[in-house]
Amino acid sequence: MRSITEVEVRAKRVLVRVDFNVPLDGDRVADDSRIVAALPTLALLRERGARLVIASHLGRPKGRPRDDLRLAPVAARLAELTGVEVRTVPTVVGAEAEAASRTLGDGEMLMLENTRFEPGEETNDDALARDFAALADLYCNDAFGAAHRAHASTEGVAHHLESYAGLLLSREVEALDRLLKRPGRPFLAILGGAKVSDKLGVIAALIDRVDGILLGGGMANTFLLARGVEVRSSLVERDRVSDARALIARATERGVEISLPVDARVATSLDDGAQVVPIEAIQVGQAIFDIGPATGALYRERIMAAGTVFWNGPVGVYERDAFATGTREVARAVAATAAVTVAGGGDSIAALNDAGLAGEIDHVSTGGGASLEYIEGRTLPGLAAIPSA
Ligand code: ADP
Ligand code: MG
Repeated sequence: MRSITEVEVRAKRVLVRVDFNVPLDGDRVADDSRIVAALPTLALLRERGARLVIASHLGRPKGRPRDDLRLAPVAARLAELTGVEVRTVPTVVGAEAEAASRTLGDGEMLMLENTRFEPGEETNDDALARDFAALADLYCNDAFGAAHRAHASTEGVAHHLESYAGLLLSREVEALDRLLKRPGRPFLAILGGAKVSDKLGVIAALIDRVDGILLGGGMANTFLLARGVEVRSSLVERDRVSDARALIARATERGVEISLPVDARVATSLDDGAQVVPIEAIQVGQAIFDIGPATGALYRERIMAAGTVFWNGPVGVYERDAFATGTREVARAVAATAAVTVAGGGDSIAALNDAGLAGEIDHVSTGGGASLEYIEGRTLPGLAAIPSA
């Protein structure tokens, strides 16, 4: 992809699409990782004298303004992080936004309102794409987390302005390409999270690339059931059991080992204390909420011996202390291994941040869904819209 570093930006208005879809706590940003991740691109553009028109979505306002999803707290946090004023407008596009863009001086920043306040954003409406284009002279996409969506501000606008990739977007793609093209062996994937239906595609794609897959979280339950384990009241997707069985067969054919929990932390509800049981000994009424210590130790051994590790999805209900141990053990092992490590997914990153370990990972992807789709080999519309170098 053509990089924003290759073009003269001085005194030009640059529409920078970032992924500032951050968790809010009232009117404060609860986790600013995604803002921090975009700072190098913003700093580069400012140093080179560009006039920055910043666009992001936040949450799911479904095409109309919602006061609790305005970007003011995000603009305030960006101003704190940069020590520079961030101007705002109450609209996404239109006369007021365009006028504001024209008052920018070199190195100054303007933040547009939440792109998803516009009904044309998610439908990739061409009129809205043109309205975005009217706000700038160049387009820079740095929103990897939104690159798998063909929206007006991530894809449509690229057809109406000279378009470039931001530093974060390029770095994300390079990190994932490294996994796909020349992974150190053994290449191990750790997949967790709630639902197997979200991740069937990526498991299928990974079977062709990795040497082993460690499963945990709610999604492992469907695989356990496929292998005949009584998972009782655990979260399962019964309509996916045959898919799970097919994936196990395919993995076996290719000599890829799919590892499942051998023990678990179970309870009758999330509010009860955890009990450790062998995976064959779950009682009626109990549900798996975390991998057990024997599984944690086995998984750790595999992670330590790997050459490359890709991790997506917590292996337990890590939001609850009683069921956070397994995910913490996985996070510690991924942080400690000598392997090249890549982690993605909002919840996996939150777990890494909780444990203070995000800095020990080689690449923490800001895009959960986008990184999975990239690994699946799908075309990401936001990337495809940027011409190659
Ligand atoms: P990520 O955001 O890292 O991609 P997901 O969104 O796919 O991860 O999954 C995270 C969710 O999975 C968490 O909310 C967690 O509580 C849930 N989860 C993990 N293990 C289980 C389990 N055994 N039963 C139910 N939910 C689980
Ligand atoms: Mg999630």
